Amino acid sequence: MRAAALRDRIGGELVLPDDAGYALAIQLQNTEYDTVEPYAVAYCASEEDVARCVRHARDRGLRLHVRGGGHSFNGWSTGEGLVVDLSRMSHTVAEEAVVRLGAGVRSLDALDVLRTRGRQIVTGTFPTVGAGGFLTGGGIGWQTRRFGLGSDLVTAARVVLADGRTVRCSAAEEPDLYWALRGGGGGTFGVVTEFEVRPVEAPTLVAFETLWAYDDAVEVLTAWQEWAVEGPDELGTSLVVLPGMFGPGGRPVVRVWGVHLGTAEEVRAGLDELAERAGSKPLSRTVGPPGGYAEVMHEALCGSKTVAQCHRTGTGPEAEGHRHPYTRQSYRLTGRAATRAESAALLDAWDPALDAVGQERYLLCIALGGAANRVPRTATAYAHRDARFLIGYQFACRDVAGDAAAPARLTALADRAATALAPLACGSYINFPSSRVGGDWETEYFGENRGRLRAVKRAYDPEDFFRHAQSIGHSAPTTEVES
Ligand SMILES: Cc1cc2nc3c(=O)[nH]c(=O)nc-3n(C[C@H](O)[C@H](O)[C@H](O)COP(=O)(O)OP(=O)(O)OC[C@H]3O[C@@H](n4cnc5c(N)ncnc54)[C@H](O)[C@@H]3O)c2cc1C
Repeated sequence: MRAAALRDRIGGELVLPDDAGYALAIQLQNTEYDTVEPYAVAYCASEEDVARCVRHARDRGLRLHVRGGGHSFNGWSTGEGLVVDLSRMSHTVAEEAVVRLGAGVRSLDALDVLRTRGRQIVTGTFPTVGAGGFLTGGGIGWQTRRFGLGSDLVTAARVVLADGRTVRCSAAEEPDLYWALRGGGGGTFGVVTEFEVRPVEAPTLVAFETLWAYDDAVEVLTAWQEWAVEGPDELGTSLVVLPGMFGPGGRPVVRVWGVHLGTAEEVRAGLDELAERAGSKPLSRTVGPPGGYAEVMHEALCGSKTVAQCHRTGTGPEAEGHRHPYTRQSYRLTGRAATRAESAALLDAWDPALDAVGQERYLLCIALGGAANRVPRTATAYAHRDARFLIGYQFACRDVAGDAAAPARLTALADRAATALAPLACGSYINFPSSRVGGDWETEYFGENRGRLRAVKRAYDPEDFFRHAQSIGHSAPTTEVES
């Protein structure tokens, strides 16, 4: 069957290289992958469409790339084969005990639908990340400490398998697959078409933001980590060190922000305590009024943009959400608050001197722990139940075509950052992969769960049909992988 014949067989839309919409259809969140030219992009409208695409690819010996929200840092949702895009399977349905999510739904759309239904679900901290990748990789965010990972709340999933069959998995049906899909990584075991998730009870939230002078960065980074470790589960918080190009007055700045499932007074008292621990005052501090969960999350994720505007540029007529430039990153999970000397080393790798050459870069930390760490390590595929922080660096270039030296330069910076992170690391999170991962990456991502994951892979995808650079395989990886 030729590619065009698939067009007549699916209810959704098939975009081929000669079609006018192809250049937009192939895009991911990161512009780096605009040069990858898939055989076709299938915007599936139903589970049957997905199954037909799987069979089409298998019959023709094509690779198949599963795409949800398209946020894979390392481009694992695209390639030269057939891209199965789930973005039109994006329903959000609130039922009695669960919320059903189409696997292509973006956080901001799910929150918007649930806004009027009196339901709340956990999401990450970026508006357009898709449920498909977020939940299969683990799913961390500001609600992790209070409610656990996004995947801890998944009660069932519908999955199209490599042989074209569709199964439902849950604790009672296909339990090994259900186990693997909660942290074993996307694009590995099958195409999830729908998740059922347990809603959470979080009717109101308070958002906060503080900015700190870079001169105080070592103390703020150290104090913020201790504050987050010792703080209540209701506190969801991130810290980012921004370069001068994004700081007030052209100076680098440290931003601490997040949401709290409590009162504005509790947040103010908490921020006072953070300032006391840091021994300095922030340049600015904003504590919002308590608001509806979806409204506060929308504002924290999208600012004043409407839902339609907040979508990624190119995905709708009003969409103006930014795309990410060519980036090299190093990320690790860490198991404790860094000491002052370790914080200083982390900031050295971010390197304030790079402002002089206009290097765009971030040091990002997200606080974890709480409920996520009260789950046994082997209960789901996500093993990192002792992680307290996700910490990492991104080094970006907005004109890589005009700067031939950029890839090597950014790789060297990311490597230096990886060295700074190594003494603190207790593993890696498959949804924030480093650009360069060496050695035994399966153990890095999955710890003692890797053996069971390989067994599930053998049982459900014996021919390794669903694969990308770091999907779990049938046997241990032996070579270094560079994505
Ligand atoms: C700017 C930004 C912010 C982020 N913030 C957070 C955050 O706060 N918390 C967090 O946990 N993560 C975050 N992430 C990471 C994000 O969770 C992962 O990149 C995730 O895999 C993206 O899912 P996606 O569906 O949007 O991406 P995609 O690129 O579409 O998919 C990612 C992976 O999942 C697979 N996949 C996608 N859909 C399915 C499906 N339906 N069935 C099976 N496999 C599927 C793909 O094949 C690919 O391997 C962020 C990423 C970015 C770029």
